[in-house]
Amino acid sequence: MSLKSGIDFFRTVTFRLAIWYVLLFTLSSSIVFLLIYYRLSSRLKSQVDLDLLSKAKEFKILYQEQGINALRSEFQREANSRGIRHVFFLLSTIKGDTLISSDLSLWKVKRLFTKALPTRLRFDTISIRSHRKARLIFMPVDDNHVLVCGVELRNMEIIQERLRETFGTALAIILILGGLAGYFISQKAMSGVQRVTKTAIQIQKGGDLSKRVPLGKEGLEIEDLVKAFNKMLDRIELLIKELKDVTDNIAHDLRSPITKIRGITETTLMGDANLKEFQDMGAKVIEECDRLIGMINTMLEITKTEAGILELKKEKLNINEIIKDAIDLFYPLAEDKGIKIEEDIPPEPVLIYADRSKIQRAIANILDNAIKYTPKGGKIRVAVNSLNEKASIIVEDTGIGIKEKDLPHIFDRFYRAEQSRTSPGTGLGLSLAKAIVEAHGGKIQVTSAVGKGSKFLIVLTKW
Ligand code: ADP
Repeated sequence: MSLKSGIDFFRTVTFRLAIWYVLLFTLSSSIVFLLIYYRLSSRLKSQVDLDLLSKAKEFKILYQEQGINALRSEFQREANSRGIRHVFFLLSTIKGDTLISSDLSLWKVKRLFTKALPTRLRFDTISIRSHRKARLIFMPVDDNHVLVCGVELRNMEIIQERLRETFGTALAIILILGGLAGYFISQKAMSGVQRVTKTAIQIQKGGDLSKRVPLGKEGLEIEDLVKAFNKMLDRIELLIKELKDVTDNIAHDLRSPITKIRGITETTLMGDANLKEFQDMGAKVIEECDRLIGMINTMLEITKTEAGILELKKEKLNINEIIKDAIDLFYPLAEDKGIKIEEDIPPEPVLIYADRSKIQRAIANILDNAIKYTPKGGKIRVAVNSLNEKASIIVEDTGIGIKEKDLPHIFDRFYRAEQSRTSPGTGLGLSLAKAIVEAHGGKIQVTSAVGKGSKFLIVLTKW
């Protein structure tokens, strides 16, 4: 591991989480140990005190009932049976003069009596040889005498020492295992983030936007991150595709109108044109430019609508009214061509939640096509249906129809079927209609038979 990757390792979330894990584990284990340790120690201590108290009481009764000689032999017997190194007993005057005692050769208790002995029951802890401790009880037996019993605390200290050793070992194991467990747990949790990073790097290096982060089972937050990242990639991919399509369209389809403008200008300039011909040329150029601007604007509108950049100003609309308004608008055009428009609109309102002007635009494009591609004397039927949660709009004509091979392409930008190229148009109307309907979560479909007519169906969700 190089120095940099070593330093990077310490900066990883995995490492930091593992450290936090170990610290918390150590802290909580230490608190639990300290609680156990102090409870156990105080329990042991009170056990020692109880032992001393009951022994002292026994001696007191013996002294009061049988006198000093019986007490002396009992001191010796008891000290011998428990071990003279571990216990001692003595009877002293209040001033500190020992009257009788067990074998005190191993106990330096002289200094106990430098002060006057307590005249009330008292416990005390003193240090004895080699840093060991002993617990004492002072029990007055009458006005002038005090009974003193002492017991070495060695056993208690051994238990405490073992407890500390056991905890030390346990803590070391906890630290190692906890550290490893913490590391692996956080590494597992972070593996989702690493997958996201890996995919991002792959995309950045290879430029392949079709790559996606595989979904794992690390938990909801990571799943949400992966899903959000993948969705973002979907969006970026769509935007890039749109951008590419627009660039392609500019290259192919906008070139011909510009060439046309150039041709018109060139012909006029090359010839011996008079003022009228120049004026005509100017008018044609303006007309072509307007057409070009219209195409560019529509193209941008399609791109924005498809990419979801365009903000829809949605409101509650009665689709019946929108359709009636559209029919009114196109009525004169249809009449001019001798085309009959038949309405099949229910009396009750059919409500949708949509952007009024966009929906108007989509319907106008379809109605315009129906009139444009239906010969004189034909018929157009416009119907609105409402079924469950869906509202459908049908525009059916008895026009030229669309060849089967053209059907899958008519919603593509700039696509125009061969037999319709004699009619004016840009090939953008249906693309825009489709983009608008889909931006509203709806669907647009077409069925057609050449020479018989076409039927366009729009399905939208009702309010
Ligand atoms: P255009 O400006 O050419 O009408 P559209 O995008 O509106 O562009 O339509 C694309 C093509 O679909 C048309 O060129 C035409 O070939 C075909 N089309 C659309 N509507 C109809 C229809 N009602 N009847 C026959 N062909 C149609």
